[in-house]
Amino acid sequence: MKISGIIYDLDDTLISRDEAFYSGFTKKFYEKFVDKNEFDFDTFFQIMKSADKITKWSPEKENLFNELRKNINLVEDNKFYVDFFWESIVNSVKPDLEANKHLEGLNKINFPWGVLTNGYKYQHEKMIRSGVGKLAPFYIVSGDFGCHKPCKEVFIEASKKIDLSCEEILFVGDTAETDIMGAKSVGMKTAWVKMGRRYPLEDKPDFEIDHVKELGSILNLF
Ligand SMILES: [Mg+2]
Repeated sequence: MKISGIIYDLDDTLISRDEAFYSGFTKKFYEKFVDKNEFDFDTFFQIMKSADKITKWSPEKENLFNELRKNINLVEDNKFYVDFFWESIVNSVKPDLEANKHLEGLNKINFPWGVLTNGYKYQHEKMIRSGVGKLAPFYIVSGDFGCHKPCKEVFIEASKKIDLSCEEILFVGDTAETDIMGAKSVGMKTAWVKMGRRYPLEDKPDFEIDHVKELGSILNLF
């Protein structure tokens, strides 16, 4: 298998989205908007966790709040909470130093790479805060392009930016349904970030990894 370039997902691949979600957003949301007499934090945390599980793959965040409303009385409209969501997530993004070291390694050997992330304007801010933005040769935010992973067109666009055929590209991501299925549909090789899970679909990725730093040795790059 010849791999001449890598395209990475951003959230939970190059940065910890879950950490920003739980320690940033969930805590602040509880403090500000949840009736403490009705829900203690642990109960609320479990409600949030199951709502997130159902909706996390969608870039449309009002789904999360529609899910929460099944259990919790929320007085504001979805737009208000969606804005709060993005503000608190973005403010909680921190660099993953080991991931950034891996990316610096690629730059040192001039190995082509880039980022393809689902979402809208807040992804740009995450790129900056994580430090990935200043390392990345290029990145694509799906909302700017006009379709989200797993749509084929956005993967084709990424292959044009990296200037390689899809067969020579490894796509790395944590979401089977969007990252891995989408990349496979255009003929890219795939690496799935496990995060302690079992791969949920029939058609398996080429590699399963715990962290992107493993790719240096898997691909014999450094
Ligand atoms: Mg992700």
